[in-house]
Amino acid sequence: MTRDFSVPQQRKLVTELPGPNSIALQERRVASVSRGAGTLANIYMDHASGAILVDVDGNQLIDLGCGIGVTTIGHAHPAVAAAAAEQAAKLTHTLFTVTPYENYVRVAEKLAEITPGDFEKRSILVNSGAEAVENAVKIARKHTGRRAIVSLDHAFHGRTNLTMAMTYRPWPERAGMGPFPGELYSVPVSYPFRDGLTGEEAAEKTIDYIRTHIGASEVAAFFAEPIQGDGGIVIPAPGYFTRISEFCTENGIVFVADEIQAGIARTGTWYAIEHHGVVPDLVTTAKGIAGGFPLAAVTGRAEIMDAVQPGGIGGTFGGNPVSTAAALATFEAIEQEGLLAEARRVEQALWARIGDWAQRFPVVGEVRGKGAMFGVELVQPGTITPNPEALTAVLEHVTTNGVIALDAGSWDSVLRIMPSVVISEELIDDAASVIEEALGSLSAN
Ligand SMILES: *Cc1c(COP(=O)(O)O)cnc(C)c1O
Repeated sequence: MTRDFSVPQQRKLVTELPGPNSIALQERRVASVSRGAGTLANIYMDHASGAILVDVDGNQLIDLGCGIGVTTIGHAHPAVAAAAAEQAAKLTHTLFTVTPYENYVRVAEKLAEITPGDFEKRSILVNSGAEAVENAVKIARKHTGRRAIVSLDHAFHGRTNLTMAMTYRPWPERAGMGPFPGELYSVPVSYPFRDGLTGEEAAEKTIDYIRTHIGASEVAAFFAEPIQGDGGIVIPAPGYFTRISEFCTENGIVFVADEIQAGIARTGTWYAIEHHGVVPDLVTTAKGIAGGFPLAAVTGRAEIMDAVQPGGIGGTFGGNPVSTAAALATFEAIEQEGLLAEARRVEQALWARIGDWAQRFPVVGEVRGKGAMFGVELVQPGTITPNPEALTAVLEHVTTNGVIALDAGSWDSVLRIMPSVVISEELIDDAASVIEEALGSLSAN
């Protein structure tokens, strides 16, 4: 289908990056905003459309990041903008747990339809991914009467105190900010590029670790990203989640798919766990759910979700009327515009354009991905030793040349590519050429 974009879908630089207006804003920002909110590129944005960001100096940048996988359906989607504006003029807040409204119920109905599994489901809506994960922990503990929570090596589950402790990296996510809650355990993941194991072998390693360090009967929930996002687009080997999910069922453990980054059309299916052929008990959704508006959800088996007493979960802004209106418009856009298929088109285009980088560039160890979610793992040539310096150099080159891509990986050595699923082949080609300039000069050194 042809789409109307309010900004031509091309990269165009009219100043150096960052431009003078960005530099002026950066000076004000340093004097007013905590440096704790670090930024990847100090280029200030004014507006955007589709896969193009327009900065405050009029430069047009190709967005390969989507604000970390949020604007999957394209920036400032007209249907989302219209739905949000209409709702904002009609009703902006009542607090669902004081006096409810239909949008919240409609989002919960839709989530029951699109999440994997044919059983009866319930949802709760909250504001952020971390809040969804926290609530999933509470729900699983209440349902099982157990305490231990398992998450995977290289996982990212958020930045609140609880979810930060479920997140793998000590730096910068956690350093100096404890104490952390107890009964949280990190267990080995399947990372085919690094462990060389089959899915079954990696699952046995994970399960053995749980048995010997925690005890299966102590575990309330097993949290896993079907494709790890911040961890470096780590895709567990085929069969891994099948075995993990069986183990969870056998031992009464709630299996939670954290789909906050990989879910909602990003990988060519509604949810990325579908690629692994596994049905989770609970699913957390956030980032891409509302076309850029803040909204998150926990969805899952009715008997687990309903284990919590009324008032046990909630929050003032959760399932806000405007955010839920935006989510409903996002779901509709995904269906009407065939955006699951568009994500698969982007996957094909990326494989065709960048799939041979590991053969062409000695600093590239592996290119991997699904849908519009790719990682390029950078290594010391001839080894699998992580190469964070190379990633810094690549990001520096691409951002100053009008391409916004993301960093990832526990060693800061994975270039993360997560464009909107409406990105054109021409933009993919242009952005890839810019990245190749950096990879070429690194390989020459
Ligand atoms: C981003 C992310 C979170 C946290 O979401 P926030 O909205 O930033 O709190 C949790 N899990 C995964 C997999 C994420 O990518």
